[in-house]
Amino acid sequence: MRRPVVAGNWKMHGSRSRIQALVAGIAESTDARADVIVFPPAIYLAEVIGWLAGSRIAVGAQNVHAEVNGAFTGEISAQMVADVGGEYVLVGHSERRALFAETDAMVAAKFGAVQAAGLVPILCVGETLAEREAGRADTVVIAQVDAVLAAVGIQAFARAMIAYEPVWAIGTGRTAAPADAQAMHVVIRRRLAAADTGIGAEVRVLYGGSVNAGNAQTLFAQPDIDGGLVGGASLDGDEFTRICKAA
Ligand code: PEP
Repeated sequence: MRRPVVAGNWKMHGSRSRIQALVAGIAESTDARADVIVFPPAIYLAEVIGWLAGSRIAVGAQNVHAEVNGAFTGEISAQMVADVGGEYVLVGHSERRALFAETDAMVAAKFGAVQAAGLVPILCVGETLAEREAGRADTVVIAQVDAVLAAVGIQAFARAMIAYEPVWAIGTGRTAAPADAQAMHVVIRRRLAAADTGIGAEVRVLYGGSVNAGNAQTLFAQPDIDGGLVGGASLDGDEFTRICKAA
């Protein structure tokens, strides 16, 4: 039985006071039936962890460097996230791949570094609109999964999650049809199951891309969609709470 997960990616949004208010709004409102994780901007990570102490909500980082430490101005390591009490890290978000030139090799290295620090990576994969329209969506997503699988091995996925996020659905208000998302989740799960049946069956695969309180229930009702990675709608406490309830 896979436990549902709702993760809120706050990206580079908010201010200290706005985030404190958001945290106060969601801290009391989750229940025990789903895992809830929030990903604040890194500068607020430690404070958000403190504000959420005693709640059921876990906290993670949106990105880390693959090295433990060194001369990498502006970067943070997975060990630093662990040091302040973070538990999860997003790896390979499409904005990182597209805007910060993260390659599959870099994503795989970060995935390994996150696990080496004792944290859980959420590997983000997804095709662009051009790739989908060219009939290449499955091929692209499988290649993104394979790049990490080849680097870290199938056993690493026993302590990881995957987020399927079609690039064309992120921040656009255009959500994947639940049946299309479900089909891609099966593709991902089968890829892992080919290497290890148990891990393929157990790995949690989240959907991301314009999830909101209105569409969450239908998406999460699909048998292979184990919850959502939510961007814009996670910045509204009430809406995020409704999405958590849908899970
Ligand atoms: C995201 O950034 O991971 C995301 C899914 O964003 P949105 O929900 O705004 O599409």
